[in-house]
Amino acid sequence: MIFDLQRYSTHDGPGIRTLVFLKGCSLACCWCQNPESRSPTPDLLFDPRLCLAGCDLCQRACPSAIRRQDEALCIDRRRLGRDKLASLRTCCPSEALRVCGQEQSLDDLMSDILRDRPFFERSGGGVTLSGGEPFMQPELARDLLRACKAEGLHTAVETCLHVPWRQIEPSLPHLDLVLADLKHLDQARFFEWTRGKVALVLDNLRRLAKRGIPLQIRVPLIPGFNADSDSIAAIVDTAASLATVREIHFLPYHTLGVGKYALLNQPYLAPDKPLDDPDLLHFAHAYAQRQGLTPVTRG
Ligand code: SF4
Ligand code: SF4
Repeated sequence: MIFDLQRYSTHDGPGIRTLVFLKGCSLACCWCQNPESRSPTPDLLFDPRLCLAGCDLCQRACPSAIRRQDEALCIDRRRLGRDKLASLRTCCPSEALRVCGQEQSLDDLMSDILRDRPFFERSGGGVTLSGGEPFMQPELARDLLRACKAEGLHTAVETCLHVPWRQIEPSLPHLDLVLADLKHLDQARFFEWTRGKVALVLDNLRRLAKRGIPLQIRVPLIPGFNADSDSIAAIVDTAASLATVREIHFLPYHTLGVGKYALLNQPYLAPDKPLDDPDLLHFAHAYAQRQGLTPVTRG
């Protein structure tokens, strides 16, 4: 299942890239800017500002879960199974309601991707699988990457590496680059903010390096979690110890995805202000360079 396909990206691997976003993630980072990516099943996003007065199309499509009360639309999300979401997929004329997540055949995905071949060829770009966590759907990830390689395209995956190795390994023969998150080295802190296990991430990172897979490390810098010099130094030291890492990318925390939590009717529990700490970024760059890595900051 995918939830988006984005063209002309220039930040997720070399050249101009097409990003395919696979749905489902095994972490629950509280700062996640794509909360609609986390569940492996379709999600409903509702923006009441776009809802048309007097319209009852969604209530007729799904009367057991949606009703109007005092002009407002009340949605009982517990009653929205896959069949109900399917009936809502095309019913809203104003896009106040959107269903996120769709099964798509490999052939359809490849024909979308191949429309951008001229851009890939001109820029040295290619295809990047993102998410969510692409390796949560190991067969789809492998099949897509294999089909891209068969077309001679450069391939990359953006991953949090919080999956069993057996879900990663089948994709390796078809992968040119792994963009891997490394968010923290301390298990208690990592679990508190993401519900995940650091050891699983580290084990996968080391296995990838041992297999000679080119790695780019990505570090979201989150205030209160890892946006401090000790955490950054530990992350950089680990990245520098891996033979196939050249670049480390720092991604200062922003809050551009906060509005999506309201659309999903979920609470937002991460800091409410973006990271604004030029001294810390200066430290991160200088320290990474001292450890032999090329640092990059992404907005
Ligand atoms: S179909 Fe869309 S515009 Fe119509 S009532 Fe439902 S959410 Fe509002
Ligand atoms: S790993 Fe990425 S997609 Fe998954 S919850 Fe964390 S930020 Fe969101």
